[in-house]
Amino acid sequence: MVTGHGNIKSYLHRFKIDAPNCPRGNDNQTTEHILLECAILHEDRERLIAGVAEEDSWPINKDNLIKRHYKAFAKFTQQLDKIKEMNTQHGTNIQEYLPSQQGDRRTKRKIKTE
Ligand SMILES: [Zn+2]
Repeated sequence: MVTGHGNIKSYLHRFKIDAPNCPRGNDNQTTEHILLECAILHEDRERLIAGVAEEDSWPINKDNLIKRHYKAFAKFTQQLDKIKEMNTQHGTNIQEYLPSQQGDRRTKRKIKTE
């Protein structure tokens, strides 16, 4: 059975951006910051909010967001690379966790950008 929900873990994993501060301001790059505040994803968030607003109000609890608006959420997470790119441009060291080719093992890779 393919539901797509098996991917939730890997989507959430994309939020683990281990750089201390957002390149656009001084906020910590927490999941909440990325989801609710980050200016880098402003347009993508507008799209996410528009999708959610058809059935729910915003801001929405993260669990409900994932459960009830999986597609919109998945789309949003695909844009997280924009933040990673910005971090790279700003010379931030990023610890990125990459899913390995097979199974659920994760490979830890440290990227130096200096
Ligand atoms: Zn930000």
